[in-house]
Formats: sequence, C-alpha cells, structure tokens
Amino acid sequence: MDSLYDFTFSRLEDSLRDAGIKALHAKEVYRAIYKVSGILVPAVQAWVDQRQPVETTVVRDIASSDGETRKFLLRFADGQEIETVLMGYRGRSTACISSQVGCAMGCVFCATGKMGFTRHLSAGEMVTQIKFLNTHLASEGKEPLRNVVMMGMGEPLHNFKELMTGLEIISDPRGIGIAPSRISISTVGHIPGIQKLAEAGKGYQLSVSLHGASDDERGALIPVNKRWPIADLLEACRAYSEKTERKVLIAWTLIEGANDSDDHATRLAELLKGRQVHVNLIPLNPTEGFDGHPPSEERVLEFQRVIKETAEIPVTVRQRRGIDVGAGCGQLAG
Ligand code: SF4
Repeated sequence: MDSLYDFTFSRLEDSLRDAGIKALHAKEVYRAIYKVSGILVPAVQAWVDQRQPVETTVVRDIASSDGETRKFLLRFADGQEIETVLMGYRGRSTACISSQVGCAMGCVFCATGKMGFTRHLSAGEMVTQIKFLNTHLASEGKEPLRNVVMMGMGEPLHNFKELMTGLEIISDPRGIGIAPSRISISTVGHIPGIQKLAEAGKGYQLSVSLHGASDDERGALIPVNKRWPIADLLEACRAYSEKTERKVLIAWTLIEGANDSDDHATRLAELLKGRQVHVNLIPLNPTEGFDGHPPSEERVLEFQRVIKETAEIPVTVRQRRGIDVGAGCGQLAG
C-alpha cells in the first residue's frame, strides 16, 4: 500500500470518497499531515491510521564548518540510503532533494554516478525528505523551506512519473505549499523528460547541465551525450522556454584545463547567443576517483566575462556550499 505521503490532493479526495467519507475532509488531512496536527473526525482518523508515513532513519547528520549547510544520510525501510541537503542563506532555507538511489547516467566527475543505479525513489520518498527537513527547521525555530532543488542523488527526469507526483504534493498550497516557481529540476539533458515536462506546463525552473560546447568534449564528461547530443538538447530547451515562458538555466561545471579556457567560453557563448538562457558556472567540487580540479577564482571571473561580452546573456557563479562535508554538487554518494 502507498504511504501517507504518496497522495496528491485529488487522489486523496478520491480515496476518501471510496471509503465513504466526504471529499471535503481532504483539506483537514493535508493540514494535519503537512502543517499542524489537528483533531480529525474518527472516520478520517481511521483512514489516516491505515496508511503509514515513509519510514526513514537518520544514519548520519553532518554540518558544514560555517553551519549553513547540513547533509543528512537517510535510510528507508528496505535498507537503501540517500542523502538530502539543507542549505541556509540569509534566513531562507533551500532543500536539495534526491530522486533515485544512485544514478544511471554515469557522469565522470560525479560521486553518485560512480555508484551506479539501484532504484527510483517513490513520490512519497521525495516528499518525506521535505517533511523531514521542515520538521528539522521547526525544531530550530526556523521558517519552513522556501526553495527546492531536485539536484541530489539521481537524474530526476529518469524517474518522471514519481517526480511529477512528488512535486505536485510538495507544491500544493493546501499542504507544504512551495510554489512551482521556487522548485528547480536539474537534468543532465534527458530530452524525453524535458519534452514531457514542457507538456506538463507546471512552470518549474529547468536547469540543464552542459559542461562541453562540442559533442566530443561534452561526451567525455557526460556519457549520455551520445544519446542526447547538444543540438537536440538545445532544441528541447528552446521548446521548454517557449512553452513555459521561462529561461532555462544552463549549468557549466568548470574543470581546470578541461573546459575553462577563453576558447571554451567563446564557443559556449556562440552556442547560446540569442537563446532564452541564464548560465550558471559551478567550479568543480572534488570527488573521489576523479582527478579534476576547480579553476582559480580569476579564471572563473574571466570565463564569466567572455560569455557576457560575446553573447550578452546573464551569467552567474554558483556559491559553493557544504564542500567540506561532501554536500556540494556531484559529491553525494551516501
Ligand atoms: S551529475 Fe546528476 S545525472 Fe550525472 S551521474 Fe551525477 S547525479 Fe547522475
């Protein structure tokens, strides 16, 4: 049986109706699960009691040296473990949520990719990460999560159906209520997933990892580029921004000597000129088994300058968070 956290609001209404309970009680159930626990009428309470929340155990909890980032290792009932990350910034908190145990995409610089793929997470297992982090924030007297990035372990669009269900629950204003515009889905460039996401028209922020300006260069870092090459990927991004009227975020992990030269910046800028995109530069975070390094700060700024001047598109440098506890991009490995 599905957990308590697997029910979208409309499915909850249907299920209550099937149990002979008026659908209008769904609001109280959502409020009790995700906001404040209140007294439910006995029949509704009985419906709730028949479902279990997702069982999770906190195996490890590490805080970064500046105290702003916290990484939790959570274990599910079947013994599988995932990492979930809480990032604080000026009183606002962002969750970095996992969508799979391991990952099938095999990006060479990523610790999760090195684990291989074990299984997809259910919608409820994604929702439970949010519920867990909100409970943690409340215990510290802090405001609930403001933003969510689907950038933890796994390729979220490879687990499309559960992702959509999970995000529908997370963004429902009657429950957790994090608006779609505050939810970002990060993909390695899973084109069928991007197309389905455009069709769904939910308005989530899309972030696409590029990392190389030619198929050869990108393919050396991201093996699935063979299947989903750059030209097709950029076309899928164009269609996504046209449908959603939102810019697509292009993530570029900067690796010293591999993709950080002025020539790389110029070719990237040429590729993106005139497109509805925003470039986000991410100096490489160290991972075991990958012998790459981040460039110097000066190189990063120069790379940023060349793109801005060549293509006149916005370019930002992502703040590096939680690197000392392995909570940065590409570092999650359980
Ligand atoms: S970077 Fe993302 S898609 Fe690539 S292996 Fe790591 S988790 Fe998977």
